[in-house]
Amino acid sequence: MAYNLARLSKGVSSWVLLCQPNKIFNCTKIKHQHVRQFSTVLLNRSAKAYNNPANLGIKKCFDSPSLCGLRYFHTSKPRQVPAIIWVILRPLGKLAAILMGRSIRKWYSALPPNKKQLFKQWLMANAEKIGLVVAVLGIIGFVFFETHIQETPVTKRKRFILFTEDQFSSLADIEFQAQLALYQDKLFPANHPLCQQIERVAMRILNANQDIKQIFTKKWTVTVVNAPEIKNAFVTPTGQIFVFSGILNLCKNDDQLGVILAHEMAHSICGHAAEILSYTSWIDFIMMIGIALIWALPFSDALAAAFHFILNKITSLTITLPFNRKLESEADEVGLTMAAKACFDIREFVAFWRRMGLYETLELGLPPEIDVIKNVEFLSTHPAHYSRAEHLEGLIDEATKLRASCKCPRLPRIDPRAVLEQEVRTYEAKMQAEKLKNIIVLDIKPKSY
Ligand SMILES: [Zn+2]
Repeated sequence: MAYNLARLSKGVSSWVLLCQPNKIFNCTKIKHQHVRQFSTVLLNRSAKAYNNPANLGIKKCFDSPSLCGLRYFHTSKPRQVPAIIWVILRPLGKLAAILMGRSIRKWYSALPPNKKQLFKQWLMANAEKIGLVVAVLGIIGFVFFETHIQETPVTKRKRFILFTEDQFSSLADIEFQAQLALYQDKLFPANHPLCQQIERVAMRILNANQDIKQIFTKKWTVTVVNAPEIKNAFVTPTGQIFVFSGILNLCKNDDQLGVILAHEMAHSICGHAAEILSYTSWIDFIMMIGIALIWALPFSDALAAAFHFILNKITSLTITLPFNRKLESEADEVGLTMAAKACFDIREFVAFWRRMGLYETLELGLPPEIDVIKNVEFLSTHPAHYSRAEHLEGLIDEATKLRASCKCPRLPRIDPRAVLEQEVRTYEAKMQAEKLKNIIVLDIKPKSY
């Protein structure tokens, strides 16, 4: 039996849920007022709950947190480098590679011709040794990469991970506090009906997915920001979800809201932020070799800078952006299964992304059938909305079976995808009528002779 903590917050007020996953999701709800003081309050309140003889499950986990897969109750922190150090070091590493390459070039160009000749001869004489060193470094790099391969939660995909959740938590907390500070004047109050709806939908997803360990290792919160111009939502690595009212305005029911929340929860559960930082750090490390080489070759600074720029663009288009899009698709996939288990109308996933694609094309003043964004998808960190809809459409049958296996009620008779298609047809007809409105049709009737 596992015992764990979950948290939901609304705006700047929040509460702790101390939960026992058994047949019925059993939670002790502890409300407190300030999100920023959450950690302190959490431990104090948890200790109170621990002393309650009714909470034997909690006691067990306090005594042996490793049994429950928990990280909340470490008495001493493991000695690990916080991920924020890496975030700072990465640009410095690239700068060091530029300076090193440039210094080698300057040093070599300042050598007199005879010394240059001697250096070339030394290189030729030691080519085998240099090759051996490069090969050994390559093998070390390969072994390092292979020994940091882990399985992605839920999908079991193999991936490269450099940072543990503990290393990442300080970075996530900084991000959470920074976002709260940024939007503090725009947060919806806790008693706002929109917040209550979001809480209800979020808890429905959490309750239905208790078989996923990470549901219990995150500090789940939802913060709703009143920003109608932003059609977006995001999640921190530790499960703090921010939803902007711009995207909520597109949601007409709980099922559509479930699409957004399940997708964000999936990102956090799969540890995508840690994976992105790990993978891009690794790519940056390899790129540093290329950068140092570019700046060491006998070009001018301007030409070296141009080659450096091209290297960055090629890496971004061929490695970084496709990698980001792959993780987005995975979050869609995992979010779909989570929503299916929570008995949502999963067809809304397809309809929602089609609707988003539609709004995007209409905002550009194009007819609904043209998906211009799809044509420039390769430039984006996210798949085009219509691509997402297509990908999810291919998964609907499996998700429907999963939903049925969870003893959910039958899907509603009205298919939201068909509703959207009808809306598009009505819109097109209206636009067509609008175009023809100012045209005078000259209708001549033949005289009868
Ligand atoms: Zn996403």
